[in-house]
Amino acid sequence: MSLWGGIEAGGTKFVCAIGSGPDDIRAETSFPTTTPEETIGRAIAFFGQHQQAEPLTAVGIASFGPVDPDRRSATFGYVTTTPKPHWADTDFVGRIRKALDVPVGFDSDVNGAALGEFRWGAAQGLDTFVYLTVGTGLGGGGMVNGRRIHGLMHPEMGHMRVPHDWAADPYAGYCSYHGDCWEGLACGPAIEARWQARAEQLPPEHPGWALEAHYLALGLVSIICTLSPQRIVMGGGVMKQAHLFPKIRSEVQRLLNGYIQKEAILQQIDDYIVPPGLGSQAGVLGAMALAEEAAAA
Ligand code: ADP
Ligand code: ZN
Repeated sequence: MSLWGGIEAGGTKFVCAIGSGPDDIRAETSFPTTTPEETIGRAIAFFGQHQQAEPLTAVGIASFGPVDPDRRSATFGYVTTTPKPHWADTDFVGRIRKALDVPVGFDSDVNGAALGEFRWGAAQGLDTFVYLTVGTGLGGGGMVNGRRIHGLMHPEMGHMRVPHDWAADPYAGYCSYHGDCWEGLACGPAIEARWQARAEQLPPEHPGWALEAHYLALGLVSIICTLSPQRIVMGGGVMKQAHLFPKIRSEVQRLLNGYIQKEAILQQIDDYIVPPGLGSQAGVLGAMALAEEAAAA
């Protein structure tokens, strides 16, 4: 039986797991993201120790970025221009492959999670869908016509511009590049900065949630109109607020204003904008799905 190693490499923590799928996770660990040497070193130690008992078939990495996921590129497998200290120009895949000597799959964190949802979760059977995370940042990935979206780099959906009514919301935005881009207005730290309380602590009836749903819906409408996804899967810490889903769905319908005459949006939007089928494991299982894909390549 094939055994996959998965690394969900986040800007604040790494999650590593070994298994063959969601019902068969044999080992899992997590640790804070510090320097590449230390953090990748800990991942290698975790997999290396397990390999003495059971060989891994392949390893997959779903990484914070920007990353280079283009196999034809000289910097394939690198974390490239990240503002995160120590991590710019890090040859992530090279270090893992050198230490563990197995095929290594690699993509952005959200493209990885999208693959996990496609393989085992809420996007099974679809060919065009988007996976979004709303947490410390806001990011999206996904598939179009059965292939993950890469192109020039990989999508950076969180940095699209959305209308910002300064009178209604004078908060300037959290993004260090753009201020009030989509991520800048709607990520978890933006909620905290705007309301002076962590998102976990805002009660469901707080007006901040209607504003959050409005911003999230604005971005979703642009994604729906651009990519025509068959479903949108939304995860990340902020989306643990389950009451956000109905707010976002009705705001998406209001903003689309009847333009897209499809049952998925008009009648079945509860199945159209959904939480991850894999819950908070979407990222690490996505990394395992990247390993499976690398083994097959
Ligand atoms: P990361 O993006 O670092 O992987 P998370 O997805 O948990 O981690 O995102 C962290 C952000 O999500 C923080 O801004 C935090 O306030 C917010 N968050 C985490 N859990 C919740 C929750 N249950 N409800 C609302 N916001 C949350
Ligand atoms: Zn931005």
